[in-house]
Amino acid sequence: MSEKFDLPFKSDMQPQMLDLGSKIQFRCHKGISCFNACCKKADITLTPYDVIRLKDHLGKSSTEFLKDHTVPFQMDKEGLPGAKLKTTDEGVCLFMTEEGCSVYKDRPTACRYYPLGHMSMLASGSKTDETHYFMVKEEHCKGHEEDRVLPIADYLKEQETRQYDEMNREWMQLMLKRRSMGPTVGRPPEATLQMFFMCSFDMERLRRFVLSDNFKKTYDLEDSTYEVLEKEDNSLMQFGVRLMKQAFFGERTIPEKDGAWEKRVEERQEVWDARRQAEIARQQQAEDEKYKDA
Ligand code: SF4
Ligand code: SF4
Repeated sequence: MSEKFDLPFKSDMQPQMLDLGSKIQFRCHKGISCFNACCKKADITLTPYDVIRLKDHLGKSSTEFLKDHTVPFQMDKEGLPGAKLKTTDEGVCLFMTEEGCSVYKDRPTACRYYPLGHMSMLASGSKTDETHYFMVKEEHCKGHEEDRVLPIADYLKEQETRQYDEMNREWMQLMLKRRSMGPTVGRPPEATLQMFFMCSFDMERLRRFVLSDNFKKTYDLEDSTYEVLEKEDNSLMQFGVRLMKQAFFGERTIPEKDGAWEKRVEERQEVWDARRQAEIARQQQAEDEKYKDA
């Protein structure tokens, strides 16, 4: 199964752009000769909502899930960190069993879409994105030879992608906006990249961050908002996207307390001063060492 989420251009993909009304010939079922073949060549990029569903399915925290079941990778040239499902060295998905997918009810978005790839695009000047679909035809997949033709909309309904699409929409738009800005945005600082990973995938860590005293001192949120963020992963995930928009694009949708920004700059200034002093001391020491035996 090649990567099926936001597919890059590669040979298995049919170049034709499809829409929800386009008809496809495909059927996958347990009795098919290639059953499980796709999961033996798994390259599954996870979305934030995939991680929530899977870690809940397994009864793990997101931090544990990420450690046990994913491998990190860079989603773009600027080093934006993403997560893929862990596989064996041969590429077999660890969730695959002889009977099929052991997490089927909560399988990732990419597994639901297969054999379709989907790609969102932001036309220049437009604020809303458009989604296009592509058929991926891989040699091992015999589902394309089955006698069933149906519109893409019906196929996606059958695969129950709607909730996944809705939950991931804001995050996908954030990624799209970053991409549409091209190389002008450059590589974000390391701390921003780490924050991106936490806000996207690690809800337990994000929750600790949002409920910390430092956070509460900076942002002006109602107690009821904190109560929701403490309990609900889905709301926390959407809040994380807002935090990232603030970090990447300066979109201030989370109100800050009066003077919090100035205070942060002041605190930063103290850190910068301390670093400068330490650097001066280090250089002086290096000079002293140089002339000690002269
Ligand atoms: S999560 Fe399930 S459907 Fe997806 S690759 Fe793994 S076994 Fe296959
Ligand atoms: S038909 Fe395709 S998607 Fe279904 S089991 Fe076979 S290889 Fe996988």
